Amino acid sequence: MEIGITHCGICHSDLHLISNDWGISQYPFIPGHEIVGSITAVGSEVRSLDLGQRVGLGWQSNSCGACEWCIRGMENLCPSAEATCVHRHGGYADRVRANVRFVIPIPEALESAQAAPLLCAGITVYNPLRTHAVNPSSRVGVVGIGGLGHIAIQFARVFGAEVTAFSSSAAKEEEVRALGAHHFVNTRESKALKEVAGSLDFVLSTVNADQDWGVFIQTLRPTGALCFVGVPPSPVSIQAFPLISGLRTISGNPTGSPSRLREMLDVAARHGVKAQIESFPMAKANEAIEKVKKNKIRYRAVLAN
Ligand code: NAP
Ligand code: ZN
Repeated sequence: MEIGITHCGICHSDLHLISNDWGISQYPFIPGHEIVGSITAVGSEVRSLDLGQRVGLGWQSNSCGACEWCIRGMENLCPSAEATCVHRHGGYADRVRANVRFVIPIPEALESAQAAPLLCAGITVYNPLRTHAVNPSSRVGVVGIGGLGHIAIQFARVFGAEVTAFSSSAAKEEEVRALGAHHFVNTRESKALKEVAGSLDFVLSTVNADQDWGVFIQTLRPTGALCFVGVPPSPVSIQAFPLISGLRTISGNPTGSPSRLREMLDVAARHGVKAQIESFPMAKANEAIEKVKKNKIRYRAVLAN
């Protein structure tokens, strides 16, 4: 399946891959895995999608289709999963190819530029909110309000939760409240962090930097969970005792399956969840990347052809 790319979001994972933070990058390297476009070529066996149809492609482009996880519909856990821009060329381009199973139709109600970031940032925050059964009784914290975080706030609101945003950028407060956060905690103020101790059921960290993780464990109520989607550079170090005494857990989440992606896009379309974007022409990708690096984008950079 070949997609003629109209839009591609800039995820912080692209920046990690550009600088080979994870030791898996291959150069020459073309980043990009928040892709929207229309189908320009299909293989002879493809029945589910048509030429010209508007579609999206996220982090994952293929899986084995035969292992326990693929058969269970959890293709994002397949040990042979292939990522769209790891050892293959991604979406900062005119065209991209992927297995049809990972190419997802975009609902009509979503605009392409605002939908592109949902393909990675959106699913990466939606999936753990669903896995951890967030509901109207839940008190949810979102740590780091960038591309992932600003969409997490919106989905947590759709699920009916009370939402606390944790940000190191005091200047974001007003916008973050407008996105749906009930509370705003400046993570540079230890007093503000202490005030929310023991108040949350589920905390989703989207931060790509090291933090004092014990502080976030302390924000959890008994049975609460801290889930990592952001990738800090150092190992995560925490005391065991608060986990033991309060039956608390820590977890992680890798993107989501194709069926979850379809569900997420449908929920986004019906409930008005969309990325707040800054648009750049594809040729200005380097300029946009520099702005992401400096945490200056509000809240997702999207490249357009
Ligand atoms: P982003 O748009 O750059 O946002 C990251 C946010 O983290 C920033 O906006 C900032 O929020 C906060 N932050 C950055 N540096 C910080 C620091 N030194 N101290 C405290 N806070 C800091 O990045 P993103 O695209 O959302 O991606 C975030 C992370 O998720 C990356 O590590 C990426 O690789 C990872 N990711 C994982 C998956 C997965 O499947 N698990 C999928 C996509 C991305 P504030 O200004 O509000 O503090
Ligand atoms: Zn990503």
